[in-house]
Formats: sequence, C-alpha cells, structure tokens
Amino acid sequence: MNEQEFQNLAKDSPFQDSPVMPNMLEGDTSIQFRCHRNVKCWNACCSNIDIPLTPYDILRLKNRLKISSAEFLQEYTFPFEMDKDGLPGVKYKPVDGGSACRFMVEEGCSVYEDRPSACRYYPVALLSMRRSDEYTDRTGYALVQEAHCLGHQEDRKITIEDYRTEQGVNDFDEKSRGWRQLILKKKSAGPAIGKPQQMSNQLFFMASYDLDRFRAFVMSPSFNESYVIAVETMAELVADDEKLMAFGFDFLRHALFNEKNLEERDGAYDKHRARLNERAQKIRAGFEQDREKLEELKYSPDARPGDCECGGNE
Ligand code: SF4
Ligand code: SF4
Repeated sequence: MNEQEFQNLAKDSPFQDSPVMPNMLEGDTSIQFRCHRNVKCWNACCSNIDIPLTPYDILRLKNRLKISSAEFLQEYTFPFEMDKDGLPGVKYKPVDGGSACRFMVEEGCSVYEDRPSACRYYPVALLSMRRSDEYTDRTGYALVQEAHCLGHQEDRKITIEDYRTEQGVNDFDEKSRGWRQLILKKKSAGPAIGKPQQMSNQLFFMASYDLDRFRAFVMSPSFNESYVIAVETMAELVADDEKLMAFGFDFLRHALFNEKNLEERDGAYDKHRARLNERAQKIRAGFEQDREKLEELKYSPDARPGDCECGGNE
C-alpha cells in the first residue's frame, strides 16, 4: 500500500476523527504498548470520550444491560452524520455535563467483556477502504499517540495482530464486516448511486442500530407482504439478534443499492402503492372531518363572543 492509498484509506474510515495524525501500519507491525491498572493515567482515555459505535457494539451492550435497543440509544448515545449526505452514525453519550464514559468506574470499565470495538482497538485504529474497481475491502491500521496515554512508554512490544487477539477484536470485526462494507460501498458509489435520502437514512438507522424495532418491522404484515421469508428463517430472525443483524445488512444492500438479496413477492410494489394511497386517503378524510367540525363550531348557535379566545368583537 502506498502513501496516497493510505491517505485515502484514512480519509474514508468511519473512525477518521482521531486527534492524532495516524501512521500507516500493517498487521505484523510491532507497537510498544501496554495498559494495566497501575499506569498513572489509569482511566484517562475513558474520561474524555469520542467513540462511534457499530451495530454489533450496540447489540452486545443492550443485551448486557438487558434493555431494548431503543432504550440503549436513548440513554447512552447521540446521533452524528458519518458523511456529507447525512449517513447516520451513533456515538457514546458521555456523563451529564462532562466528557467521561458512563461505564467508567474506579476499577476501570464496568462493561469490560462487552466494551465496544473502538475501546478494544485503542490505541490502534482500524481503517477500511474499498476502491470502486475492487470487490473486497482492504484494511490497515493507525497508531493513536495521545499525550495523556502513558501506555506507549511501557516496556512491551506486540504486533498489531497479537494485540487484536489479546483484546478480542476479531469477533467484533467479523460481525461488523457487512456493515463496514455497506458504508464503504455507499462512499465509493458516488453521489448519484446509493445516495441516502431521508427514508433511506431512517432505514439505515433502524436496521443498523435499533435492532428491536427492526425485528418488529421484519415481523410486520407489510414486510411479509413484500418479501418471501421462509418460516424457519423468520423463526431464527425473531430469536437470534446476531442473525437479525446480519439479515439487516443484506436488507439494506437490497433496499439502498438494489442488490437482489431478498425475494420480493409478486405484485409487492403495487400492494405497497395501494397501501400508501389508502393511508393518504385516510389522512385526507381526517383533515376533511376536522375542517367540517371547525365550520360547524364557527356557525353554532351556542357559540358566544369570546369562545374563540380573541376577546370578543374586537
Ligand atoms: S466502554 Fe469501557 S473502555 Fe470504553 S470508554 Fe467506556 S469505560 Fe472506557
Ligand atoms: S495507558 Fe492509555 S489506554 Fe491505558 S489507561 Fe492510560 S490512557 Fe488509557
């Protein structure tokens, strides 16, 4: 990989906003780093956070906390835009009035076994790139060297690959690969293709982050009128968060990029249009009823000056 490719790769990464310019690193590169309870900077990195979350991060955390995805998003995250077209991302929301992570305790991380991918990687950052003429994505790494982090002064050398294994990153990368590829595909597709409009962004948000709402969507009559889903597959999607998440990535590729990952039912488009028309007619009828009620009130013999709250005849 040459320097220009690396700069493109750094530019395209969803984790590009590092406070430190990254150096180009391969998996077999050795870094000098160790973090442990006795470093003087203990918890410094968790005291000032800027952590984007992947769908799998959210899945792990909401299940650990035994709350729904909607509750997790509401309580622990805030939205941000991942690109100029407003592709939605979510980041950890810090403590009220501060910058520390809500899961930081004196002993360290209170959700350590389920901490997000970015926390596991730190001080390494994962960078992904896909060129428009390539089918698969490529990865590289960068080292984030922040002044407050004294782990770089510890006497331990370790390759990035071994560090990834030590931190249990592989599983997280594997489960989020489909989602990263979606983001890269969108970015490399150019402005006209796959450009998310408001509806696309809402779908992307729901299928990526709000897994429990996405499950309800997949189980809804309108979804099942549109797509053919085998009974066994549907049972798995209902029962298994990880399968549902992976299905969500396929669904997004189908919905946003017209990749035929799902089998559509015959006439699904016409039925969809008919449903929209029916809904529009109901809304129109509601408006009409409200308007008629207002007219009736206006000319009601019981109406007195002042009923309109304007103070009478003035
Ligand atoms: S989740 Fe844990 S490791 Fe990550 S910022 Fe919060 S306290 Fe630190
Ligand atoms: S050594 Fe770095 S990663 Fe470890 S606690 Fe200190 S600032 Fe955080």
